[in-house]
Amino acid sequence: MDRVSKLIEEIRVYGVNNEVPIMSVETIDTIKKIIIENNIHSILEIGTAIAYSTINFASTPGVEKITSIERDDDRYSIACDNVSKSELSNIRLIHDDALNTIIEDKYDLLIIDAAKSQNTRFFNKYKENLTENGMIIIDNLEFHGYVGRSKEIKSRNLRQMVGKIEKFLKFLDENSEYDVEYIEVGD
Ligand code: SAH
Ligand code: MG
Repeated sequence: MDRVSKLIEEIRVYGVNNEVPIMSVETIDTIKKIIIENNIHSILEIGTAIAYSTINFASTPGVEKITSIERDDDRYSIACDNVSKSELSNIRLIHDDALNTIIEDKYDLLIIDAAKSQNTRFFNKYKENLTENGMIIIDNLEFHGYVGRSKEIKSRNLRQMVGKIEKFLKFLDENSEYDVEYIEVGD
């Protein structure tokens, strides 16, 4: 295993042991394939956590730059350490609430993996940062199998959050600006 792959595996184990909601290995592999097949050079990621996905994508062939936004202090700080350990020079981390961040650049791929109840807001805000024919990937649209069953959920907070994902799916169905595809991997 090369140095970066070793680091990625260490970060994954840390994430699993510390309940950081990192992407599944299958999701990472799927997105890496999409990056390569679509000749993606630049990525804007909403939701860095500890930079597990960020370092995975930054080290994917063809990726020239990735910008990633994280609002949580502790996670941002761990992400900075991990990025510095990676010695990759194509990563820019931003410590901010992504609902307020102003990004000027354009990116080939937008990855939304932050607060699930804010998907519509992230989508509408950051689609302005896509290059022509740019692509948006949104993680966790099944939310552990709860989506589609929000009315049966007892916990009020969870029910509201899943209800918002259901609304977001409806928004995607009704939109005519983008071709939409659901990929059944991870959740
Ligand atoms: N993409 C990461 C996992 C991200 S988990 C990976 O797969 O490795 C989701 C992260 O989004 C959390 O760390 C959370 O703090 C962050 N987040 C949620 N809402 C946010 C917001 N409005 N702005 C910035 N970060 C946000
Ligand atoms: Mg996720």
